[in-house]
Amino acid sequence: ELPTVVIIGRPNVGKSTLFNRVVGSQQAIVEDRPGITRDRKVLEASWLEVPFLVVDTGGWMPGGDALEEKVSRQVEEAVRDADVVLFVVDASVGLTDDDQTIANWVRRSGRDVIIVANKADNERRETDRWEFLGLGLGDPVPVSALHGRRAGDLLDVVISRF
Ligand code: GDP
Ligand code: MG
Repeated sequence: ELPTVVIIGRPNVGKSTLFNRVVGSQQAIVEDRPGITRDRKVLEASWLEVPFLVVDTGGWMPGGDALEEKVSRQVEEAVRDADVVLFVVDASVGLTDDDQTIANWVRRSGRDVIIVANKADNERRETDRWEFLGLGLGDPVPVSALHGRRAGDLLDVVISRF
């Protein structure tokens, strides 16, 4: 069984962009596991010849309406199966209350979490990542999922956690 990396975070932080960046052109669905819904995309990826599964999620929305709660529950299920959780935050926006709520919850999940400070498109935005130290989940790793900036550095950290 391949190690599983699950991407979570509030909506619009760039989870799906990161997912697409990580799986690249090797878009093969390798597992049709029961319980995986259409809202959770699972693809195989590899870095430095280390294969793993990547799961995109719909976005965790605390205190939302019925549909949002359902999506949030699917995220919780995905995290339960995770070897590594990529908790994506938006370095161009900064720390939000929803980030804090997700952090409190993911800490309790006991999973191995990496804070990904996405939209770090330039040097200054990279520096903005230190604000997310306040989540208490370790050093934020800066990346620009859109441009690919420091994506390799992030993947180095990911495979070191397996
Ligand atoms: P999701 O809701 O978390 O899956 O977010 P998406 O991947 O759909 O991205 C939301 C928006 O952020 C889109 O307009 C993306 O193009 C944009 N975005 C994602 N990653 C980056 C990034 O690294 N830099 C910038 N500037 N925009 C990004
Ligand atoms: Mg998405």
